Amino acid sequence: MADTFDVIVIGAGAAGLSAARDLSRAGKRVVVLEARDRTGGRIKTDRERGLVEAGAEFIHGESAATWDYVTELNVETHIAGPENADSYRLFGEKGHIRADTDELYKRFRKSDDELWKYDGPDMSLAEYFRKYGTDEEAAFYKIREIASDIESADPGLLSVRGIVHEDRLATSGGRNFWIPGGYDQLVKGVATGLDIKLRHHVVRVRWSEGKVDVECDNGAHFTAARLVMTIPIGVMKRCPPEFLPALPTAFEKAVRAIGFGNASKMTFWMDGRMPDFNFLATPGAVGHWWQRRFGNEVVIVGFAGGQLADALVRMGERDAIQAGIDDLVDGMGSAIKHLITHARHFTWSDDPLAYGSYSFPTVGMEDTRDVLQTPIMNTVFYCGEATNTRGHAGMVHGAIEEGRRVAREILALP
Ligand SMILES: Cc1cc2nc3c(=O)[nH]c(=O)nc-3n(C[C@H](O)[C@H](O)[C@H](O)COP(=O)(O)OP(=O)(O)OC[C@H]3O[C@@H](n4cnc5c(N)ncnc54)[C@H](O)[C@@H]3O)c2cc1C
Repeated sequence: MADTFDVIVIGAGAAGLSAARDLSRAGKRVVVLEARDRTGGRIKTDRERGLVEAGAEFIHGESAATWDYVTELNVETHIAGPENADSYRLFGEKGHIRADTDELYKRFRKSDDELWKYDGPDMSLAEYFRKYGTDEEAAFYKIREIASDIESADPGLLSVRGIVHEDRLATSGGRNFWIPGGYDQLVKGVATGLDIKLRHHVVRVRWSEGKVDVECDNGAHFTAARLVMTIPIGVMKRCPPEFLPALPTAFEKAVRAIGFGNASKMTFWMDGRMPDFNFLATPGAVGHWWQRRFGNEVVIVGFAGGQLADALVRMGERDAIQAGIDDLVDGMGSAIKHLITHARHFTWSDDPLAYGSYSFPTVGMEDTRDVLQTPIMNTVFYCGEATNTRGHAGMVHGAIEEGRRVAREILALP
């Protein structure tokens, strides 16, 4: 016998919880089915050694939708570095911070200014720099910053028109913030009071207009008038639930067209006696570093996206960590490796409930995010970071906006 609800939400990540919360508050009977044994999805705070974030770490922007929850739940935040931390980075190579780091940074910014003005035909980021890049070294670091650190994408697939368009739409602001007590504090706060069934992996959805019957791998069945599905694109590409009947061809085509990258985080716990820095760019296996410094604890985090992440994953845990240490030593000198007290490498490409990091625009994909977010017969609503068309795709606040948008759409239906 199936349990009956007004709305079934698949996935207890930022999008699913946001949708469920608004729908429940409006009086709908809602159940959230989550395959993992925890809430949060790609937000995962790890406390094995001391607090670090295996997935999302920053609130990107002082106007991000996330602040509604931060304020309501009274969650402590901490600005990441000085106010302008995002606009300055060091470049390290051959064991030193480069003497010309300021000058290289100016060239790096110059290649940026040109890129964001681009209004020509679509092409990949790699092709753009082959065609228009005049400063090879600045282009090398710019491609790594955009493709790896920001979009976690293959630069040969990443659409220049896509990133420029999305950047112009974004309104969340340029400053980054940490949640010192853990991003999961926010997740738990949003989840409070919701009917969430953990370890419920949805394997089959039978649907017709105004009716869904959802089946989980443990045999449990749930029925409702509407379905909000927040399964990540990586999973939708590789092993989505079986839909009977199949979802529209346009939707399936859009799932294939959108990019979904890979990202990994290298985390080094440090002896407190190390030099302070905000962001560091290196030419090696990881490429982008920052440090979290709360109280006495200092953690250096390396972020590798796209092809860099793929290569680290192929190496396996031990060699990947060694490659990370080598890259950091290349950037800051060999003394730093003696300050590392513990290391972890967090990956997402092998996580069967994510199969990667987050979505990115591919060359020519154009309105794919709009297709993905179009309700299917006002019955199946797909949402998550990947459906955000306000310039906030790939991020927690983009997922929150999408969950809340879908809740509004459902509440507006007769
Ligand atoms: C390494 C990394 C670093 C990041 N850093 C940042 C950052 O600093 N700031 C930022 O804003 N964003 C960051 N992001 C992106 C951010 O984490 C995501 O955009 C956001 O959390 C996505 O939320 P979502 O609800 O769309 O999807 P998810 O969080 O993935 O939620 C989907 C849920 O669906 C569940 N699910 C999947 N299949 C099934 C099924 N068949 N049945 C039941 N449940 C299922 C999953 O287990 C998951 O819990 C990062 C991501 C990664 C991987």
